[in-house]
Amino acid sequence: RRYVFAFAEGDKDHKDLLGGKGANLAEMTNLGLPVPPGFTVSTEACRRFLADGQEPPGLAEEIGEHLERLEAERGKRLGAAEDPMLVSVRSGAKFSMPGMMETVLDIGLNDMSVLGLAAASGNERFAWDSYRRLIQMFGATVLGIDAAEFAAALAEVKRFHDVTRDVDLDAAALRDVVAVYKRIVTEATGRDFPQDPREQLDMAVRAVFSSWNTERARVYRGRERIPHDLGTAVNVMAMVYGNLGPDSGTGVAFTRDPATGAPGVYGDYLADAQGEDVVAGIRTPVPLQELERIDPVSFEELLVIMTILEDHFRDLCDVEFTIERGKLWMLQTRVGKRTAAAAFRLAVQFLDDELIDVGEALGRVTGEQLAQLMFPQFDPDNAAESIAEGVPASPGAAVGTAVFDSAAAVRHGGAVILIRRETSPDDLPGIIAAKGVLTSRGGKTSHAAVVARGMGKTCVVGADALEVDTERRRFTAPGGVVVREGDLVSIDGTTGAVYAGTIDVVPSAVVEYFEGRLTAEERRRDPVVQAVARMMVYADQHRRLGVHANADTPADARRARRFRADGIGLCRTEHMFLGERRHHVEELILAQSAAEQDKVLAELLPMQLGDFVGIFAAMDGLPVTIRLIDPPLHEFLPDFTELSVKVALAEARGEVDEEEVRLLQAVRRLHEQNPMLGLRGVRLGLVVPGLVAMQVRAIAEAAAARIRAGDDPRPEIMVPLIGGPEEFELMREEIQRVLDDVAEAAGFPIRAKIGTMIELPRAALTAGRIAEHAEFFSFGTNDLTQTTWGFSRDDVEGSFFPVYLDKGVFAASPFESLDETGVGRLVSIAVEEGRATRGDLAIGVCGEHGGDPSSVRFFDRIGLDYVSCSPFRVPVARLEAGRSAV
Ligand code: ADP
Ligand code: MG
Ligand code: MG
Repeated sequence: RRYVFAFAEGDKDHKDLLGGKGANLAEMTNLGLPVPPGFTVSTEACRRFLADGQEPPGLAEEIGEHLERLEAERGKRLGAAEDPMLVSVRSGAKFSMPGMMETVLDIGLNDMSVLGLAAASGNERFAWDSYRRLIQMFGATVLGIDAAEFAAALAEVKRFHDVTRDVDLDAAALRDVVAVYKRIVTEATGRDFPQDPREQLDMAVRAVFSSWNTERARVYRGRERIPHDLGTAVNVMAMVYGNLGPDSGTGVAFTRDPATGAPGVYGDYLADAQGEDVVAGIRTPVPLQELERIDPVSFEELLVIMTILEDHFRDLCDVEFTIERGKLWMLQTRVGKRTAAAAFRLAVQFLDDELIDVGEALGRVTGEQLAQLMFPQFDPDNAAESIAEGVPASPGAAVGTAVFDSAAAVRHGGAVILIRRETSPDDLPGIIAAKGVLTSRGGKTSHAAVVARGMGKTCVVGADALEVDTERRRFTAPGGVVVREGDLVSIDGTTGAVYAGTIDVVPSAVVEYFEGRLTAEERRRDPVVQAVARMMVYADQHRRLGVHANADTPADARRARRFRADGIGLCRTEHMFLGERRHHVEELILAQSAAEQDKVLAELLPMQLGDFVGIFAAMDGLPVTIRLIDPPLHEFLPDFTELSVKVALAEARGEVDEEEVRLLQAVRRLHEQNPMLGLRGVRLGLVVPGLVAMQVRAIAEAAAARIRAGDDPRPEIMVPLIGGPEEFELMREEIQRVLDDVAEAAGFPIRAKIGTMIELPRAALTAGRIAEHAEFFSFGTNDLTQTTWGFSRDDVEGSFFPVYLDKGVFAASPFESLDETGVGRLVSIAVEEGRATRGDLAIGVCGEHGGDPSSVRFFDRIGLDYVSCSPFRVPVARLEAGRSAV
């Protein structure tokens, strides 16, 4: 068993073992790119360390052997008193978790080797700067000392020497900083800063292992659905120095713009700095293009390397690099995170460059990203003046209440804009809670920008005209505008504009396109719309799965059609009893005789009929699946408690209203402890005679009307909440009787399929017999999830779900993403046994899961004919169905 691998031994396909950073460092090494040498301690070592609480046997020796080889290669010794080699110890998990775990630079410096480094480099200031960086990073991440203590000490020394920037401290001042830092370490830990280089190394490796389980890393993984049991690899790499003076520096670059997807290299560069300085947003870097002027040779070499990487990975790559006295070193690369808009544009660019095929292009965009592009944006014609301009780091339009720290963002939740000078990994909960993030410092590669982009949050960074005062919870903009906590602000992540107050939003161009409201010229001018349009064509060409819409009104049905739904998979009829029609339901329940009941039903009939005529007209030639009334009747009645109080008060005044007393009795009679499991669905249809007959008559007469108008209506009548074949059979006979009746009166046949929802476990388990009479199934996965798990959706999400998610009972709420193991198994059984009985059984799904990307793939895999989701979700499901097919 081996735990340690030299960079030259790995490759990009071993991310499980080497982590993403290690695997790609190996890949770059083998491509012959200038990577400082080093080795990777595997994720397996980390997993064993976390399980056993100690390093696995043999690990220390293996690290020792690799260290010796590294020393031989560099011709230097770790932390030697003369010309020392230094190393960085870097975390790197399988999935990138920007800034979530620890990295320690400059390992190997101590009171002796700092002098050796100064002598060897001829730069005393650099040596002491590196030493103080080591103590600071090591102190905070390995020894767990509050980083603020070091920051305060540094500020104190700067004040004493009357300078404002770190780079203005000279060697002597930095020696003072080191002395103060060492005292902080001794006081906080009870022992001196470790002087033994190998001990420093071992402690740093252990700290990186442990950083896998910090609170913020766990929060991040929960949000990104990364499993908690992967562990991190640790990369030990010879240091190269970007802080040797103006001919050195460090930067981050992208092979294309990850914010917009526009072609062309870009990034950030910071002269005379070490890597951490760029990401931390401590100083605002210059655009990468400046490097062409500063160091044209390194710039040219970097461009060549980025082309090599992009051709090799066949995707947008980001890189970290350092220039040490004019020599370029590559420190990291990975396939870069990107915004939703960029994902679509890049997919078609790489397709057109023939680096990938259509299948792979589809694999590079997700339904979630498309959904993001469908959110509204700021009105480009808005007259408001921005109060500042920052760097647009992650697009979107965010309007919300200003908050100035993570805790406040979490406390308020919802529509808040988190405003910071710069963010650090500790701000993660706040970023998750906020709608948008605004910082006054940092570039497109700062922590805030990277994290927000990864999460699809709107983000503006580096708005340096703003003076952010976190202590007093406010910022000041040029012209004296002051925004305090609680005030409204708007930020535009596409342009970088910051506004005080609220800005109007307009529909996204992508939605306008789907709605058919863009002219050919407007389409041509918008590269995102163009890319989306092309990807939708590919998805439709490849998908096997149909996509239907849930629509209850003619307006929804028309939108569904514009969004290219293949039909309506769920039309809920109970919505037709709400609003001003509600009192008819009351009358129905209070009716004293069959004749009275028939009278009310006769009044409801024309209303339902009108709705159906409109829906069938919109969906001419496409199936419309109509679900008979489902919810319990009391949902249409006044609230029991309110009505009781009202009646009691009236009685006290001696003004008894007979109607109301009768209504109260009815409400009491219908009151149920567990309405979800009570008198609803097919049960209601069987218990209240005439209700279903009226609904079916409305459907059939509406169909007849459309047939007369020359259309081709395709109604499908769906019975909800059956537990087995008996209930369905009773209902089906009743439905057929009414259909025949209407057809006879019309004088021509009216064809309507009759089928059922499968939303109770018993229905799934008896599906083979149900299919003897049902012409189609539609899985109601919301109810099926509730009844399979035995928990009520309305009660659990806010109560124990957070604990379940944290403890890993499930990775995502089973109401969002179908529980494939349990609920999915019932679905599979019903599909198999239903089709065994009736080969041409049409099967769909109409729960929320119909629009959830991972669930869509599952439904495709097990052979469903279609999914149904809300009209706005239709393009998302079409895209996912296409992706699932390639
Ligand atoms: P993160 O995953 O948070 O980016 P990294 O391990 O990439 O952490 O390291 C943090 C910073 O330190 C990066 O900017 C990186 O380029 C820089 N760095 C890491 N190792 C070295 C090294 N051997 N020499 C110079 N800079 C380094
Ligand atoms: Mg990095
Ligand atoms: Mg249901």
